[in-house]
Amino acid sequence: MTRRFTRRKLLSTAATALAAPTILSGSASAFAMDDRVEPTTGLNTRHRPGVDSEILATMEPGTVGEIMNGPENKDGYTWWGIHWLEDNIWGWSVERYLTPAGGGGSGADFTWPITGYITSPYGARPGHYAVDFGNDGIIGTPIYAARDGVVDIRSFESGGCGNYLKIGHENGYQTMYCHLNSFDVSQGQNVSRGQKIGGMGDTGNSTGPHLHFTIEQNQTHRSIPGSDGQNVTAGEAIPKDYSGI
Ligand SMILES: [Zn+2]
Repeated sequence: MTRRFTRRKLLSTAATALAAPTILSGSASAFAMDDRVEPTTGLNTRHRPGVDSEILATMEPGTVGEIMNGPENKDGYTWWGIHWLEDNIWGWSVERYLTPAGGGGSGADFTWPITGYITSPYGARPGHYAVDFGNDGIIGTPIYAARDGVVDIRSFESGGCGNYLKIGHENGYQTMYCHLNSFDVSQGQNVSRGQKIGGMGDTGNSTGPHLHFTIEQNQTHRSIPGSDGQNVTAGEAIPKDYSGI
């Protein structure tokens, strides 16, 4: 699937946020590690702190990033190292053009589809717009629907997802569950949030028993929060303070 980059303009000349440095007073830090932020205007994100550093991309309002480093003071600005989740870009941006990411989003809500732990967070590997979960390699660990919906696809893909399900939800959302060992639902079947839909497996292109889980809206992947090794509990809400959900 082709990724869309609707909110980002690479090396845009419209990005004037850093054109006129001013001296800031040394105030307390506005953010902390793991805070979710978004730009208030077209905002450059740079290779290092400082206005002379290479511009990696220009982030638009509505793009959500997670604070990973900082703060650093350089050229009269306070800089934060940010992982821009949806586009999987790491860069440094200026604090004064950042605001806490809005929670709630469209009101869509999802719950974790498994009880286990995150083995690969969203965007941790290039091209991996999904979250992988493990549970001590236990084949058959129950997988649950993340939201009410209809089973759009129940199929097998030998070089990729193996046995997989795609469930359609309201507002153009789809969730996908890959590498399953078994199915508990049929194509076209209505499912409820929390209903068991299959068992964790190692089918398709998989290096061990795990669940590969994605959330899309209108064929665009949405970022999913969570850090490497984080424990998750099936049925508990996936936090909403992230892009598009
Ligand atoms: Zn995966």
